[in-house]
Amino acid sequence: MRNTTTVIVGAGHCGLAMSHCLAARSVDHVVLERAEIANSWRTQRWDSLRLLTPNWMTRLPGYAYRGADPDGYLSAGRVVAMLEDYADSSAAPVLTGVTVTSVRAVAGGYVVRTDQGTWHAPTVVLASGAATLPAVPSLARLVPAGITSVTPAAYRNPGQLPGGGVLVIGASASGIQLADELHRSGRPVTLAVGEHVRMPRTYRGRDILWWLDAAGVLNQRYDEVDDLARARNVPSMQLVGSAGRTVDLNALGSAGVRLVGRLAGIADGVAQFSGSLPNVCALADLKLGRLLNTIDAWAGTAGERFAPTVVRSAPLGLNLRSGEISTIVWATGYRPDLSWLDVPVLDRKGRVVHDGGVTACPGLYLIGMPFLRRRKSSLIDGAADDAAELTTHLAGRLDALAGRRARSAS
Ligand SMILES: Cc1cc2nc3c(=O)[nH]c(=O)nc-3n(C[C@H](O)[C@H](O)[C@H](O)COP(=O)(O)OP(=O)(O)OC[C@H]3O[C@@H](n4cnc5c(N)ncnc54)[C@H](O)[C@@H]3O)c2cc1C
Repeated sequence: MRNTTTVIVGAGHCGLAMSHCLAARSVDHVVLERAEIANSWRTQRWDSLRLLTPNWMTRLPGYAYRGADPDGYLSAGRVVAMLEDYADSSAAPVLTGVTVTSVRAVAGGYVVRTDQGTWHAPTVVLASGAATLPAVPSLARLVPAGITSVTPAAYRNPGQLPGGGVLVIGASASGIQLADELHRSGRPVTLAVGEHVRMPRTYRGRDILWWLDAAGVLNQRYDEVDDLARARNVPSMQLVGSAGRTVDLNALGSAGVRLVGRLAGIADGVAQFSGSLPNVCALADLKLGRLLNTIDAWAGTAGERFAPTVVRSAPLGLNLRSGEISTIVWATGYRPDLSWLDVPVLDRKGRVVHDGGVTACPGLYLIGMPFLRRRKSSLIDGAADDAAELTTHLAGRLDALAGRRARSAS
């Protein structure tokens, strides 16, 4: 069994940010990565994906974008290169090709079993990702045979799909981007729209994320919101990484994408859509208006407003056996995979219960979850503050353990 002070599970940007902060405090640690650095950006992103956050927001502890295009949007390949450089320049102690198979609490810390041996450490940081597995609703099993089902994690490009119509379920960032791409490839696209976060790409002449950053919206802390459980479940913003291009429901609808309500069921081969489309669109418009009001209040003057979402009459059913639809894209979100965690910190739904990344098991931490400590926690730009604060907590835990050892020795 090998010993270290902290085991970090996962070498995505969160694991690397934690590593950087621990190194700055001289905390001995190791980063265990089952595949390669930035694995999710190598294996789970479609070919055309660009970050929806502009390059100047690609900030990590000790790293800021210094390229020639601060207002551009990195491709997944460029994110991989950036994270590899970051790991190199931080001299992060990453062991690749090491899968963690269990984490168990023992006296004095944790035993971390891997497919390449066992580690003991008083502290462990779970940085294995919030978006490891697709979250596909159970009604997917009712899809008639002959229809191809694909998730955004497995989708690469339109050429991979059979010809014919596509039903995209979900209108958050992944859903609107894939609906747009598939429609442009010449396929008839139907988009099933549930609760969503409407967002213009630019506002008052700047990228909307500039405003959200400057006005402090992304910095809002987890202990400042009224309903944290809800805030942690808010869908991703309807944004695409393409300068000045807004891909909202109005843009998709006028391009010819058919909008229908949330997929509510599948019975006898017929997809049934909720009649709530006008309501969810009105709610998204209302929330966008409130957000722009917040920005205007910060800016001190009123900015432009956007036309309400146009909702044409939408069918409530679609016969999946008619041949009209050949593919369903389940853009219904992602979930973490912590099936290997043998520590009693999971709720009924298998989610880690935590207070800003600090679990009830002393020395066990979590990073990279939505709204972990701030609204921006799920973004690359959110890791720096979260990692710094968790490192402070972790260092306090190590000091307490050292104090206890000193007292029992005297
Ligand atoms: C489609 C998509 C687009 C996104 N676009 C943006 C964007 O534009 N801008 C932005 O800021 N954020 C974006 N995000 C959000 C976020 O930045 C990414 O999800 C990011 O990959 C999360 O980083 P992470 O380090 O928390 O997890 P990951 O990148 O998932 O890293 C976790 C690592 O842990 C490893 N791992 C998992 N289990 C084990 C195990 N048992 N043992 C060892 N290793 C393990 C994995 O291989 C992986 O390398 C996007 C997310 C998705 C899904």
